[in-house]
Amino acid sequence: MSQLKIINASKIYNENTDHEVKALDDVSFEADKGEFIVILGASGAGKSTLLNIIGGMDTLTRGSFIIDNVDISKVNEKELSIFRREKIGFVFQFYNLINNLTALENVQIAESLSNNPLDSIEVLNNVGLGKRLTNTPAELSGGEQQRVAIARAIVKNPTFLLCDEPTGALDSKTGSHIIKLLIDISKKYNKTVIIVTHNSKIAEVASRVIRLQDGKIKSDTINKTPKKPEDITW
Ligand code: ADP
Ligand code: MG
Repeated sequence: MSQLKIINASKIYNENTDHEVKALDDVSFEADKGEFIVILGASGAGKSTLLNIIGGMDTLTRGSFIIDNVDISKVNEKELSIFRREKIGFVFQFYNLINNLTALENVQIAESLSNNPLDSIEVLNNVGLGKRLTNTPAELSGGEQQRVAIARAIVKNPTFLLCDEPTGALDSKTGSHIIKLLIDISKKYNKTVIIVTHNSKIAEVASRVIRLQDGKIKSDTINKTPKKPEDITW
């Protein structure tokens, strides 16, 4: 039984009007626990829409998505909020840290919201920030801020780590370090990681690549010989 099943999922804005947009158009795929998936597509392909739906932050027009046998497209607001809190760790392009809190405090907030969290200091050590616990975001580089954001997402001990253009604001070298960290974290904590990006270089390190175009899946391929993140540059 797959951990995640997306079945005939569509997200249509302004349906049956002149402004109709099919952000997702009959998308179906399944994912197993521990998979490392890159969803690749141009700007406007529907990547953020898909990720936000899996993360319980947006709803489908049609279709369903099922996680651990629960049809999340059918649950009420309260259950959806519990689902987001317990099962989803989200990483954004621009980190979205709280600026007047330290690295440790940013992560501890997420720890305090979860039923089954990991330890904030241990997770910050594991993302390489053990010596930066008391620094605020303004005192950290972009790459370090993204490490804090990854620690904040993983400390909840979520089922999924969902990353929307996680290297989009970083230079190539820092970006490839972040990708390496995401791969290491997914193995260490046995998490299912889904990264959405327009960057085809990042897809080269993934064991599975789903290509999205105009809201549709164009291909879904297994990569038997993924590159090492240190060997990609863009
Ligand atoms: P991506 O992340 O791949 O760049 P998005 O998922 O953000 O793409 O958007 C997919 C399509 O849906 C785009 O054409 C976008 O303009 C459209 N879209 C997204 N949000 C809305 C909205 N609230 N209203 C209307 N159209 C939207
Ligand atoms: Mg997007």
